[in-house]
Amino acid sequence: MSISRLASSINESPTLAMNEKARLLRTKGDPVIHLGGGEPKNKAPITAVLASAAKLRSGDIKYAPTDGLPSLKKAIIRYTEEHYGRLASADNVIVSTGAKQSIYNLLFSLVNPQDEVIILAPYWVSYPEMIKMVYGIPVVVTPEDGTFQPRMEEIEEAVSSYTKIIIINSPNNPSGVMYPEEFIADIVDYCERKGIYLIFDDIYHRLIFDGRQPISPYRFTDSDIENTRVIVVNGISKLYGLTGFRIGWTIANRKLVEVMTIIQSQVTSCPSVVSQAAADGALSGMQSVVENLRLTIQNNRDVMLQELRSFSDVNVTKPSGTFYCLPDFRAYSGDSLELANFLLEKALVVTVPGIDFGMEGYLRLSYCGSVKDVTEGIERLKWALDPNAPNEIYIGDRKLIRDWL
Ligand code: PMP
Repeated sequence: MSISRLASSINESPTLAMNEKARLLRTKGDPVIHLGGGEPKNKAPITAVLASAAKLRSGDIKYAPTDGLPSLKKAIIRYTEEHYGRLASADNVIVSTGAKQSIYNLLFSLVNPQDEVIILAPYWVSYPEMIKMVYGIPVVVTPEDGTFQPRMEEIEEAVSSYTKIIIINSPNNPSGVMYPEEFIADIVDYCERKGIYLIFDDIYHRLIFDGRQPISPYRFTDSDIENTRVIVVNGISKLYGLTGFRIGWTIANRKLVEVMTIIQSQVTSCPSVVSQAAADGALSGMQSVVENLRLTIQNNRDVMLQELRSFSDVNVTKPSGTFYCLPDFRAYSGDSLELANFLLEKALVVTVPGIDFGMEGYLRLSYCGSVKDVTEGIERLKWALDPNAPNEIYIGDRKLIRDWL
């Protein structure tokens, strides 16, 4: 078989192989705990379910306009005005099959071969691969001070005449960190002055804790949506726990939306109308679902932090949002993939190796499952790694003895 050079250069995430291993262990009946998940466990909001069911019942399941159903675009415009303080017109909105497709379409529409796209470590796993898929070059900026907070000086140093885009994801997958307001202000101002597009991947937007408020990047520019370099991406996957409907959107200038619409029309024609009805239902329905989910996840975060604090030699930055944290496990191993595999084999816990996110020696742990998953999961990790933890544990109904420390 002759696979293209480009396709051969795109990495499969090592995580997928590990998820498969976990699935096989589960089918064997092993009590695997998944701390690798990327979606909340809530039931779908009823307004989303009813809206999509009504669409199905209508029997009218056809192609829709490529850029999205007018009713959903209206709901997105309302959402953008309410939460970002910016008035978009219908021509500034394109709905896609998940925020993932929104970001890919943006990259496809903006990047010339060899253009550089700056991403900030720790970064979402898909950014580098998607950039490579449009023949661009990912340029990774890693904070030198070991924090997860990028600094403007480091970003400015990485900018070259080829820099086309900077991608910001705050609250951040995988660290849960929310970048400070001054940083967002500075980077918006910098990108406006330099003419660099700033993709603001806001998929965890309102899943933030401790009374924090979402930060709208539009606050820091006087330019309207037609003229700003700021591009906002959001969706229903995380806020409403509706990952399976695959709906995301982009707010950008008219010309860019036009180009993205052409690209999308040639690839998927349009997002599914059933999913779009669900998204409309979620955005237009009772918003208490988001608050309930946020509170549940905040509580899980607190439990996770409490459990991690008693873990010798593991340091963790307190997450301000999302449902992830990225503790430093370098005291136990410098090879996060090897460590994650070891933890799956010995303790039956799925974690995600930090190397996937550009942070070797760290593991991403999710707290989007149950409190029991978090407490039992961390107890098992401690048993497997921490010499100060008891060397006996019950995993399911089997008593295991640690004999490797
Ligand atoms: N951006 C980030 C940072 C994400 O974590 C994810 C999902 N894991 C996405 C975008 C894509 O979300 P969607 O389900 O809407 O495609």
